[in-house]
Amino acid sequence: GSGSKCVRLSGPLVKPLLDSVDCVLFDCDGVIWRGNQAVAGAPQVINLLKERGKRVLFVTNNSTKTRSMYAEKMSALGFNVTEDEVFGTAFCCAAYLQTVCALRGKVYLLGSAAMQQELQAVGIQHVGVGPDHVSGTQQDWANVPLDPDVKAVVVGFDEHFSYMKLNRALQYLLQNDCLFVGTNRDSRLPLEGGKAVPGTGCLLQAVEAAAQRQAQTVGKPSRFMFDCLAARFGVQPERCMMVGDRLDTDILLGSNCGLKTLLTLTGVSTVAEAEAHRASGCAQRQGMVPDFYVESIADLLPALQG
Ligand code: PLP
Ligand code: CA
Repeated sequence: GSGSKCVRLSGPLVKPLLDSVDCVLFDCDGVIWRGNQAVAGAPQVINLLKERGKRVLFVTNNSTKTRSMYAEKMSALGFNVTEDEVFGTAFCCAAYLQTVCALRGKVYLLGSAAMQQELQAVGIQHVGVGPDHVSGTQQDWANVPLDPDVKAVVVGFDEHFSYMKLNRALQYLLQNDCLFVGTNRDSRLPLEGGKAVPGTGCLLQAVEAAAQRQAQTVGKPSRFMFDCLAARFGVQPERCMMVGDRLDTDILLGSNCGLKTLLTLTGVSTVAEAEAHRASGCAQRQGMVPDFYVESIADLLPALQG
């Protein structure tokens, strides 16, 4: 009945749901691919949704690729996607600094080559690329030379993260007019076989702890990514569905923005976790309960082919 949530989406329920939306947002890792492999049936689902006239957009917290790198990866995996349909945190972070922050100055960047490229693309200069070598005493570290034009510290996925970079970020953030922006708070990146590596959230928390300040974040579940794509494509929230594998990022983003939500079980979160949020009765946790769930987005195929 009305108000029922966390419903298994199957058979006769699929077509009415698809008919009720004009736009479908897909998270990437754990939804349309896992690592470097497309989820079975996912390219067909995406391509058929587009053929049926749906707007299909991609929303990923992964800051290690530019829009064009995503478009290239997706094409190689069989998805018909153009770069303007992809909203990653490298691109959205640059857009956030430009539009929301109206940044006048340089960025001290803890991040990837993709983030450098997306900053360059909007005309924002940055410093801090590559390793930061250790020299001198603790006294010297506290007096490390700073670039006076730096007006923001930005933290994304940085595989060269180090104590010296953490220190330099702190020295910039001790200046009260220095903005503090993070791409996302994912604390772990799940890998095949139940393995995982530390995510950007770990790096961001280290900088927040050092600076004793909270960063603004751009990625899911913050609504900026949705605002970004809605501004570009004129998306109506009530005619839009978010599909994701994580309750605390994807499904919460969808709830925060008034979208229909669909959990897919090819990634991180489970139905048991969703049910636990629902059963908790805790108002805050209800945003992490999806409207529907599927084993895989391939479950949408029969309705699209029929
Ligand atoms: N951040 C990084 C650095 C990643 O490698 C990944 C997944 O590969 C993610 C975040 C999560 O990405 P998504 O939002 O597409 O699940
Ligand atoms: Ca995901």
